[in-house]
Amino acid sequence: MAKSNRRRKQDRAKRQARDSQKQAATQRRQEWEQELEDRADRVRRLVDPDTPAAELVDLLNESHGGEPVLGFEVNRLKGFGWSTERLTTVADAMLAAESDGEREPSLTALTFASEVARATGDVARTRELLDQALEAPAASDRLTRWHLINLLRFSGRQEEAITLLEASLLDEPCEPYPIELYAIAISELHQHVNGQQPADGCSCGSGAAWEQCCGPRERAALSRFTDRSGLTELSDAVSSFLVGSDYGRAIDNLVSSYQEAARDLKLEPDELGSFGALIAEHALLTIEPPEDDQEQDEVRAPLEAFAADPSVPAELAARAQAWQSHFHYGLWKIDFDSEPPGLWCTDICTGDLRYANFPAQFTDGWPRWSVWFGGIVPVDGIWRATGTGLRLSPAEADAAAEFIEKAVIDVAQSLTGKKRRARRPDDPMPFGEAEPYGVLVEQQDPMSLAVGFVTGMTIGQLLWRIFVEVHAYRRVRPPAGTAQYGEGWEKLWIDLPVPVLNGRTPRQAALGKHRPRLEALLRQFEYEADLLAAQGQPGIDTGWLRQELDMPVMSPDD
Ligand SMILES: [Zn+2]
Repeated sequence: MAKSNRRRKQDRAKRQARDSQKQAATQRRQEWEQELEDRADRVRRLVDPDTPAAELVDLLNESHGGEPVLGFEVNRLKGFGWSTERLTTVADAMLAAESDGEREPSLTALTFASEVARATGDVARTRELLDQALEAPAASDRLTRWHLINLLRFSGRQEEAITLLEASLLDEPCEPYPIELYAIAISELHQHVNGQQPADGCSCGSGAAWEQCCGPRERAALSRFTDRSGLTELSDAVSSFLVGSDYGRAIDNLVSSYQEAARDLKLEPDELGSFGALIAEHALLTIEPPEDDQEQDEVRAPLEAFAADPSVPAELAARAQAWQSHFHYGLWKIDFDSEPPGLWCTDICTGDLRYANFPAQFTDGWPRWSVWFGGIVPVDGIWRATGTGLRLSPAEADAAAEFIEKAVIDVAQSLTGKKRRARRPDDPMPFGEAEPYGVLVEQQDPMSLAVGFVTGMTIGQLLWRIFVEVHAYRRVRPPAGTAQYGEGWEKLWIDLPVPVLNGRTPRQAALGKHRPRLEALLRQFEYEADLLAAQGQPGIDTGWLRQELDMPVMSPDD
């Protein structure tokens, strides 16, 4: 039977759609191949010793489009066999080509020439060109500026890089790139200041001794990181502001009511104290304004009221505002291998990464894989742990993370109208059963800002629940390793089915998809072994387990 007209038309339309899809795909592939070919050609011409200098100038300008060169690029050209003479000729030609007109030289030309000067050891010229680049109008673009600051770092000007980064982080404390640059620069400076200074004078090339030249400024930049007086000053001022005020009374009442509610736990005095501090700190951000202020249009939390008070000095008001906007509650997994003076920490709920100042007396002697449950806050652009919170074991942190995630999903569903309102979570924290958040977070990108914000807010609301549940759990389950593990325990365990590994033995789990859970268990053993070692007791031999299971300690870069 012949096909109907309608059917024939439909078939033709389908065929045409298919054909045009194919054509588009072919075209995309061709464009992509062309792009690759062009790039390869540019590299060939860059490497070719016969390419004339004028053409190299064009090539470099084309590939950078006025943006700064990156710190490694000149070295890479040297690796391709560019001689110092060739680099210098091209750098001079780039600057000359652009300086003859009315235009300022581009950042590409300035930074290329500055990097070439650095490669030839001309410190003064490097400095002069880089300064010129930093003052150029194009350097006000934030990303461009961060690239230039990175070049400062490459030429040994860490102190200046840090000063500029502090200014940048003061405005945008959560930006990952300056956070990373700052962490690198401050640890390089830490190493430099604490290392041997060259006998032939300061490394800036001034000829003067380091102590009389860059030394004092470098020491000052370094001590700004460890100096917690800005935070103390703010806390003290906020405390005096609250004393005797309605806000102060409201916070005190809140703290007592929570402490009263946790009475059955029979918390130790220091535990009760830190519980109260945690509640009070959260109240600074959230508590309702006193009755008689309700007529005001703006509803202000205590910190906002403090910042808005005309008697508060501008500097303190700005700090309070940064606290209010950026205070970051999290389950902070601390990387004790971080380059000093700070510690890298990752919020296992959101994947957010910060390089923060933790007071030394605070984290000294902490076991491996400790997780800090509490807030960190930017003070004048530098992230600091406030010191209020609770140290969790990796397993406790995983349970808290899963508990928080469930609550966040609930909040998200109520925000999007899928549920009428968010409920207080009924289920207890899933101790010993949670997903291995601390391990998985290393393989994931940070969450979106919006989800991160909701998560932070939710953690704030769950502070008391988590604190209470963790302590209740600790009452019934003393730190492992004291009684249940005998000598050689791990040699049996490795071949026994483990419920949390879905009934697989550790040996089986090491080869399959339960490896992250096994890694989380090993970390928990290591945490407990460190706690026991501090009391002079042996813990589980995780060194043997890791070797036998072929599971070396993962570094975050793996
Ligand atoms: Zn100097």
